[in-house]
Amino acid sequence: MRIFRRDGWLCCWCKRPVIFAPAVRLLEREVRKSGYLGPLAYYHAHATRDGAPLLDELWAVLDHAHAHSTGGTTDGDNLVTACNKCNGRKNNAPLDDWKERKRRKAIKGKYGEPQHWDGLSTLFVVLGKRDGSGLTATERAWLKAFREIGDAA
Ligand SMILES: [Zn+2]
Repeated sequence: MRIFRRDGWLCCWCKRPVIFAPAVRLLEREVRKSGYLGPLAYYHAHATRDGAPLLDELWAVLDHAHAHSTGGTTDGDNLVTACNKCNGRKNNAPLDDWKERKRRKAIKGKYGEPQHWDGLSTLFVVLGKRDGSGLTATERAWLKAFREIGDAA
């Protein structure tokens, strides 16, 4: 959570805004609770393009700047926010190598970078608090982490 916030919920490689996947799951839950029975492609546990195209692109993941397999540590210093696409492309490529060859083109804001993007994490807190039933253990742990970090009310 600290890493995501430090990085402003932007992919450190391509600068796209990333999305906190559990928020999208709870959003889908809201739609279902309203009685909608049709197909939805908001959330998918594996964020497939077919099952959840938005998450396939923008799922917020933690990435090792220097790949674990090449001696990178799991310290905060070595962890960065990444989108699902950059994370998938980078995989275990040596950092320099990957930067040269396969990097997704970084986007740049004409009017500056986002200051208040939160990856939908506030939405997650709101929906999770509104209805705590059916939350996974991981989601409950996230809620607790947000509470401790003093995020959204
Ligand atoms: Zn990216």
